[in-house]
Amino acid sequence: ATGGENKDGDIPLAVVGGGLVGSLQALYLARRGYKVLLFESRDDIRKSDSWVGRSINLALSFRGREALRAVGCEEEALSFAIPMYGRMIHSLNGKMSSQAYSAEGKAIYSIDRLKLNQLLLNSAEAHPNITLCFEHKLLRADLGKQSLTFKNPEGEKEVSVGFTFGCDGAFSTVRRQLMRWDRLNYSQEYIQHGYKELHMPPDSQGEYAMPPNYLHIWPRQEFMMIALPNPDQTFTLTLFMPFKVFDSIETEEDLLSFFMKHFPDSIEKIGGDRLVEDYFKNPTGSLVSIKCYPYYLNCSTVLLGDAAHAVVPFYGQGMNAGMEDCLVFDECLENVTKSGGGLENLGSAAKSYSEMRWRDGHAIAELSMYNYIEMRSHVNSRLYLIRKSIDDILFFLFRRSFIPLYSMVAFTRIPYHEVIKRSNRQKVLVNRFMYVSGVILIGGIGGFLALRILISHLSLSSYIYLFRKLS
Ligand code: FAD
Repeated sequence: ATGGENKDGDIPLAVVGGGLVGSLQALYLARRGYKVLLFESRDDIRKSDSWVGRSINLALSFRGREALRAVGCEEEALSFAIPMYGRMIHSLNGKMSSQAYSAEGKAIYSIDRLKLNQLLLNSAEAHPNITLCFEHKLLRADLGKQSLTFKNPEGEKEVSVGFTFGCDGAFSTVRRQLMRWDRLNYSQEYIQHGYKELHMPPDSQGEYAMPPNYLHIWPRQEFMMIALPNPDQTFTLTLFMPFKVFDSIETEEDLLSFFMKHFPDSIEKIGGDRLVEDYFKNPTGSLVSIKCYPYYLNCSTVLLGDAAHAVVPFYGQGMNAGMEDCLVFDECLENVTKSGGGLENLGSAAKSYSEMRWRDGHAIAELSMYNYIEMRSHVNSRLYLIRKSIDDILFFLFRRSFIPLYSMVAFTRIPYHEVIKRSNRQKVLVNRFMYVSGVILIGGIGGFLALRILISHLSLSSYIYLFRKLS
């Protein structure tokens, strides 16, 4: 792609945050010919082993894959990812039952967060237009003058840039500066539930202790546990529960009896000692949902990824949505660069990106909240399974116009706000389908029973009498 190249004395662009979204955004800009400085507050995660991420593996789906494909990283990313074709539900009695994600056999992918970030940083480093600046923590920004102040090991450093991309996560410093600068609406909500990561080793034969090509779920109404496979035959488990339940588990005995009561089939697979060690060693993380509007400040700054829209992780869409931001921004840039190159294009692209994208940020926040209830509770219900089967039938019959909600989110690039609208329309259709099928079923059963009663009450002589009468 072309049309970028910084003007105005070749001032570089700044991408703040070298996480999954920032490193990808730097690649997109570099491809268009812009010179980019990528600032990351931590040291280089490819060299240090002190890195502690917020979760070990993530579910990568279509939106993220599309964004990676455009910069030539999809194939390598998938080479270390594991396909998950559906959910595997673990009942209290240890029974497992699978639910396919898609009637067409499509998969989402369990991918190592650290490896994916390393891949993106390697690609960024290999690009001549990108300079990586680790241990550069943004302290403040004068957005009018486009001057950013960083703290690095030598002290404080001021850098002049042509445009700033805020990819510095949920607690974004760039966003904080934007909020002080102009009318940026902002809201955040912590949910009552936290999460804790646990680990399931391979079984005694060195194989996966559970079928690997599924996202495993232990739905328990008020809380749930999930497990995603890793390439080394292990699983990373995440326990989501209200903080008050976490707080109630104080001793080894509390923990083991809690697991015995709610997740009995997992104890042997995790190992009692390992469970105790991980549970009391690993921190309990909190989950926040952040919305803001707009995502940009004219001719100077734009927000992408969690900095613009952090969501609770129950749809597995935070990273996917953030990566799609990069793709959407690039599409906006493509539209404006047709009329020439330069920094002013970035301002126009940022404006149209913000206008297109903020509704989607809000929509995926709502969908993610909704999916927590679906995962921890609905997946167990008969009505849910009936609706899911009807969804699949309608999808089979009307492939173009009816796409189940999960498929729209995970396997298409239909804008999230459009997904909600379509899903509401489809719900009405499914309800009608269920109503009509119910009426036909009840009518059919009623008719059948009436016929049976009639037949059983008529003796042979009555049949002969009836036959004679009729003829
Ligand atoms: P971050 O990953 O937070 O990266 C921001 C970067 O900016 C970091 O490297 C940070 O060090 C740096 N930074 C911060 N402040 C500064 C500063 N002042 N100066 C310089 N650098 C700075 N998403 C999915 O799509 N699928 C999943 O399955 C999934 N599972 C999840 C499970 C859990 C438990 C959680 C908590 C989240 C999950 N997510 C998932 C969401 C996903 O982790 C995030 O959406 C994604 O990491 C956002 O990427 P980002 O680059 O925008 O932000």
